[in-house]
Amino acid sequence: MGARDDPMPHDLPKAYDPTAIEDHWAEYWVKEELFAQPTPAPDEKNAGGEPFTILLPPPNVTGRLHMGHMLNQTEMDILTRWRRMSGRRALWLPGTDHAGIATQMMVERQLATEGKTRQQLGREAFVERVWEWRRHYGGAILDQMKRLGASVDWQREYFTMDEGLSAAVREAFVKLYEQELIYRGAYIVNWCPRCQTAISDLEVVYDEHKGHLWEIRYPVLGDDGKDTGEFLTVATTRPETMLGDVAVAIHPEDERYLHLHGKKLRLPLMDRAIPIVLDEWVSREFGTGAVKVTPAHDPNDFALGQRHHLLSINIMDDTAHINEAGGAYAGMDRYVARKAVVADLEAQGLLAGIKDHTNNVGHCDRCKTVVEPRLSLQWFVKIQPLAVKAIAAVKQGHIKFTPDMYEKTYLNWMENIHDWCISRQLWWGHRIPAWHCAACHKTTVAREDPTACAHCGSETITQETDVLDTWFSSGLLPVSVFGWPNLTPENRRDFDTFYPTSLLVTGFDILFFWVARMIMLGCWFAGDVPLHPNDMDPSSGTPEMPDGSKRELKDSVPFREVYIHALVRDANREKMSKTKGNVIDPIEIVKQYGTDAVRFTLASMASPGTDIAFNVARTEGYRAFANKIWNAARFIFMNVDRAAEVGITVDRAALGAMPVVAADAPLEARWIVAELHATAAKVNQSLADYRFDDAASTIYQFFWGSFCDWYLEIVKLRLDFGEDLLNAPTGELLGEFKETRAALTTLVQVFEVALRLLSPFMPFLTEELWHAVYDGETPAKSIALTRYPVAGDENLDDAALTDMGFLQSLVTGIRSVRKDNGVEEKAITDIEIDALGGFHNVVGENQVIIQRLGKVGAVQTVSKISDGLLKYVHPHFDLGVVYERTVDVAAERERLTKDIAKYEKGLVSAEKQLGNEGFLAKAPAHIVEGLKKQEAETRLLLEKARAALDSLPKD
Ligand SMILES: [Zn+2]
Ligand SMILES: [Zn+2]
Repeated sequence: MGARDDPMPHDLPKAYDPTAIEDHWAEYWVKEELFAQPTPAPDEKNAGGEPFTILLPPPNVTGRLHMGHMLNQTEMDILTRWRRMSGRRALWLPGTDHAGIATQMMVERQLATEGKTRQQLGREAFVERVWEWRRHYGGAILDQMKRLGASVDWQREYFTMDEGLSAAVREAFVKLYEQELIYRGAYIVNWCPRCQTAISDLEVVYDEHKGHLWEIRYPVLGDDGKDTGEFLTVATTRPETMLGDVAVAIHPEDERYLHLHGKKLRLPLMDRAIPIVLDEWVSREFGTGAVKVTPAHDPNDFALGQRHHLLSINIMDDTAHINEAGGAYAGMDRYVARKAVVADLEAQGLLAGIKDHTNNVGHCDRCKTVVEPRLSLQWFVKIQPLAVKAIAAVKQGHIKFTPDMYEKTYLNWMENIHDWCISRQLWWGHRIPAWHCAACHKTTVAREDPTACAHCGSETITQETDVLDTWFSSGLLPVSVFGWPNLTPENRRDFDTFYPTSLLVTGFDILFFWVARMIMLGCWFAGDVPLHPNDMDPSSGTPEMPDGSKRELKDSVPFREVYIHALVRDANREKMSKTKGNVIDPIEIVKQYGTDAVRFTLASMASPGTDIAFNVARTEGYRAFANKIWNAARFIFMNVDRAAEVGITVDRAALGAMPVVAADAPLEARWIVAELHATAAKVNQSLADYRFDDAASTIYQFFWGSFCDWYLEIVKLRLDFGEDLLNAPTGELLGEFKETRAALTTLVQVFEVALRLLSPFMPFLTEELWHAVYDGETPAKSIALTRYPVAGDENLDDAALTDMGFLQSLVTGIRSVRKDNGVEEKAITDIEIDALGGFHNVVGENQVIIQRLGKVGAVQTVSKISDGLLKYVHPHFDLGVVYERTVDVAAERERLTKDIAKYEKGLVSAEKQLGNEGFLAKAPAHIVEGLKKQEAETRLLLEKARAALDSLPKD
């Protein structure tokens, strides 16, 4: 018996209204700090279970929740809730990213509406303005997450510009600089003239563009420096860059140009003599085989210029206007200059031709401006030693990718990686901790802001104006969120407990931006954090391992697993885009159907490597599913209350555990408990395999099919409170109160476990109903803090599953015969059953179920169905329904003829497959077995249908 014997009143509103319950519980979870995972106490090293740590990919502080977030967060929340309920010390850590370019652009736009620019404000005031913006609007996306019930630890929420995280950025920069892994150099970068900053290769998006190839004739100079009358023709897609040409390159073995070796050319428009250089990189087949060389404006030319010790002439300013080096064109925008250059060349008779040409033009991912390759002074991370570790970490199996094809993508990228340009010409971000000396021109990089040059002592030093690439700070998150480099005793316990994190769930689009950088930086810096001695007492003063060693690679990785989720597309499998106008706003859908239904939709379609075609019709269906569960709860509670009125109480002590039933319990009880165990086993396995879709459909089938459609209908027969004993169909006494109590207890018990199974998927609905089950006297503050159901093998009652399967087929058969023959809804019909072997007993023992569910009167077991009845055949039984209306022989003949044709077709196809040796050789044994069984059953059905046809009266 439970702690209290009084009934459990459960005042659920009649209608399921997701908005009301979701708002309530979302607030409750945050307010009660239910998912907080505080720093473990020193003596708590193994308490609280094995950690399950997961970082939220920090959304941009400027962000608004989109369907991709919703999928990502649904998957993370399901896994985190599941792991937490499975006894792990679960920590899901949230935060936002300062998102350099995006945020700066946002605030610049806001300033523009006031008629101001950031330059007018000045750096300091502008940065203050951004902070102000962030205080006002920066939490929006996390507020959305709170409403959606993400079970994150809000007490640990971070912002990438927070003091602690900024300290990590500074330490990482200084350390890499000291290790000579950061350098400053002239380099061709992708320059965005709008954002006025260098952007990484990954931030450039390429579009096919129909442009032109201009062929320009460069006059060949004689030894006297005068035009010889001969020309060398080059082709270019960007003619304005010729203003910065310093040479023309040809292949040394190009026979057409052997006589030009050692000659010079006159650069048209600039009247500059430039050399012809020989380089094997030049393709003789492409164009004319002569290539203009503009080292300041093209990465290949830059490399070529380095090989031949050529000057670089930068002809453009930050805004892509021609500068003084461009002579007469100075001050013109790049495209204005292009027109002018082409016109002038034509006027001088130096334009050999214009051809249509399609090429890939790079655009800034943020503002879509055409990117200009441009020489500039930037900061770089020398990536090689970091990449080596990051490759080893994956190759040695310390990090596992799902789907596993991403391992190859990752390795391929890492093996071809270039140095990482980490400087950005922005004001919003982590300013590079380097000071340039006006006296000795050297650079001082320091952990504390210096007052004098470290090289000459001069005090005329100025800080670098560039900030760091945003991904530099987000790449450090797995170490910085646990306090690195400031490893106080408390931070050390956090680090020791939660690092490496368990799992990263993210999209393919940031595999290189973020995932790869975290692996590189994590392995590099965490490797220096010694694994703590087992006593976990960081004040011991001996932070090294007992043998003095540092952390091994396997424990330096930022996460043990990476799950790459798919894309959410629209219902027609089109990518969502603003231009196409097919973007689905998750908040709108949530308003309409409730968070639980949207989450369930995403989960039911999510499996590794498969894109999701989001269809609102399915969400509507899952809202109906939630509604069905709601109604089931109301039905159960109503019966609990009715029982209480006659003094029958539910055994409360039985709640909360996996139900076990006695061997002599009614079939439906044994069956539903066996089903529940099987469902729990399958769901746990599916979640371990990231098969969210299988897990969701397993629960769905259990709850809707087994529980609501069958079990509830049958259990109604046992819930007898003495009121209508006399009305029982056969006049038999169905239940002693003892049995009623047992039935009621099993019912509530199974429902409670099913709620826990469903909880990670539909956290709101299950929280509401679970509290109602316990009528406020819950064993925990939340269903999310209870245990996830685990199957016990001993409860996989095969006999119950088989017998119930038979009963279900029989009832389905009766219903289908009644429907096909137009038997009135209310009519009670007698039946005859001819069943295989032991099933006759099942019929005998469960007659009441057959009667009630099939609207059956007398049940007769026979060895041959009498003539003249409505017939139904099944591999396990023959059924005859007694119905007084004369059988429509013609219709019956037509139906049977159709069935026969169907069975014959099925047989042909099965025989064909089973006769195919190639198939038999390759197919797994259970598939072949299944096919054989199916073939035998079809053959039997065919025989039975033929016999039934023969037995019809001949006309
Ligand atoms: Zn831009
Ligand atoms: Zn100096």
